[in-house]
Amino acid sequence: MPHVNRLDASSGADDLHFLDDQGQDDGSKPLCWRLFIVDDEPDVHRATTFALTGVNILGRPIEFLHAYSADEATKILKTESNIAIILLDVVMEREDAGLNLVRTIRNDLKLLDVRIILRTGQPGYAPEIETIHDFDINDYKTKSELTRTKLYATVTAAVRAYEQIRALDELAYYDRLSSLPNRNRFITLIDDQLARDGCSDSVMAILDIDDFSEVNDALGHQQGDRLLQAVSQRMKTSLSDDVVIARIGSDTFGLMGSAVSIDPVLLLKLFRQPFSVLNDSMIVTATVGLVRLADVKGSGQEAIKDANIALKRAKKSRRGSYVVYSVDMGIEIRERVRLLQSLRSAVETERLFVVYQPQINLDNGQVVGMEALLRWRNDDGSFVPPDRFIPLAEASGLIIAIGDWVLRMACHELIRLQAMGLPGLRMSVNVSQIQFRHPEFLAKLNTALVDTGINPKHLELEITESVAMEDPDFILETLALIKGMGISIAIDDFGTGYSSLSHLRQLPVDRLKIDRAFVNELNSAVLGGHIASMVIELGRNLKMTVIAEGIEDENQAKILREMGCHEGQGYLYAKPMPAPELKDWLRARDTSR
Ligand code: C2E
Ligand code: MG
Ligand code: MG
Repeated sequence: MPHVNRLDASSGADDLHFLDDQGQDDGSKPLCWRLFIVDDEPDVHRATTFALTGVNILGRPIEFLHAYSADEATKILKTESNIAIILLDVVMEREDAGLNLVRTIRNDLKLLDVRIILRTGQPGYAPEIETIHDFDINDYKTKSELTRTKLYATVTAAVRAYEQIRALDELAYYDRLSSLPNRNRFITLIDDQLARDGCSDSVMAILDIDDFSEVNDALGHQQGDRLLQAVSQRMKTSLSDDVVIARIGSDTFGLMGSAVSIDPVLLLKLFRQPFSVLNDSMIVTATVGLVRLADVKGSGQEAIKDANIALKRAKKSRRGSYVVYSVDMGIEIRERVRLLQSLRSAVETERLFVVYQPQINLDNGQVVGMEALLRWRNDDGSFVPPDRFIPLAEASGLIIAIGDWVLRMACHELIRLQAMGLPGLRMSVNVSQIQFRHPEFLAKLNTALVDTGINPKHLELEITESVAMEDPDFILETLALIKGMGISIAIDDFGTGYSSLSHLRQLPVDRLKIDRAFVNELNSAVLGGHIASMVIELGRNLKMTVIAEGIEDENQAKILREMGCHEGQGYLYAKPMPAPELKDWLRARDTSR
């Protein structure tokens, strides 16, 4: 029954007003305490109303509601809201009708705020102390005690208690800024909705204001708060009455209602017009993630998680868009979480290791260096490809520790190779964008050099073209510092990004690595290796060495050599190998020449 829900959810908001202003609610209806008389004797109704008519309690008059049986009372309680006090007869249609009604009120209707004063004609029907306690009964009176003065004192005490409970509720369940239900309350409301049958048509959405923190930073928190108020106000006035609106995070709102009411296209439309906030007119966009409650397995918490998954998807694709959660998304995310957990334990149990792939001088066939590549072997012996786990390690921040470890492993290996009598070899290490941007990257790099004692001129860092091309000032400065340490720099996967020539010209780069896709093309008559030859030409002009990766056959090697490519790496020469194999391979190659 959605409308109970709505009354429940929005009534708190109304109350906040009314506690604040003590004035008129909507300008027409005077604010008052709603007092519900449930008694099968009409005389008791008359006497009570008479005694309390015209009385003001804490500045407000009393509005009376009447029921003459427990059944009738239940019906009224299902539709009316904001009842402060129930004066309840213990014995009505049955001896236990009153106490049963209390049970219904607290357990079934979940009306926990309303204060209940039990009344009975016969003192012998007094409920047990435990009952009074368990059902949160405020007071127990015999009808003879309800004279005008006593009634006034009893009702006033109950009103005070009611008001305190509401105030506490408000703190616990409502957001002060927007007067909307907060996250806790929203979760309860979803739980209630999920517990009801036939929520197949219900939808829950999380709406996130895009770049809200920038508004806050630029205009101050006060203005940010006003913007949030304007947004919640617009939603309140524009969305249909059956929609529950909640504020569930600093700049996120939760919405719940029928699929028709929560139409994402209409939601996003609400943001087309600017919001007027004090003297400003602000344009903001929002992104929305939705979930059908029928798709939710579990509780309100789960529903929020699912909608958040959809929201993240939407943010990733484009701000100001929406995505509806599908069960597949959940599976994929849980898969990622599992992978991440095992990656963590792989780090701990040292199932990560480094392999090395030789790099060759194409002119004379000599080994010039090798690239360190990370490997992850599962418990069952299968490998997880780096293209899968490196993005995950980046997203989780694990790449910082892993990358540092690869760097140190590679440096140690280089020292061992030199000890074998191969002094001139170069060690290339891939550096992810996250590592590169980490404030301690340079310090860590330096420590690795000092700890392992390698000569920096034998170390090369590979950054991808996309990293090299963004944020020019930062890149230029960082690369200059790295070069200053004596380390050389290669741009990996070259040709796949969008290099600006003028930017590239400024960068202190030693080597361009032609992406394997363009080496692959060399065998195709149609594509014909245009990009490879362009990169080689570019390298010549910029006085950078060019290395081709992914050379798999002699034909490719020959074409590259003829184009003037200096170095190469690929299965034609060797696959990436663990250190002991690499040593064997190097020895064998040395003796065979
Ligand atoms: P990348 O840096 O471009 O590495 C070259 C990739 O080409 C490697 O894939 C290598 O095994 C593969 N490869 C080399 N020769 C051939 C060939 O002839 N044919 C084919 N088909 N492939 C060849 P791998 O090892 O799977 O690594 C994939 C990517 O993962 C790397 O691309 C790099 O971006 C990333 N990666 C690997 N190790 C690390 C690491 O320690 N740190 C970071 N940040 N990224 C890493
Ligand atoms: Mg690389
Ligand atoms: Mg590459």
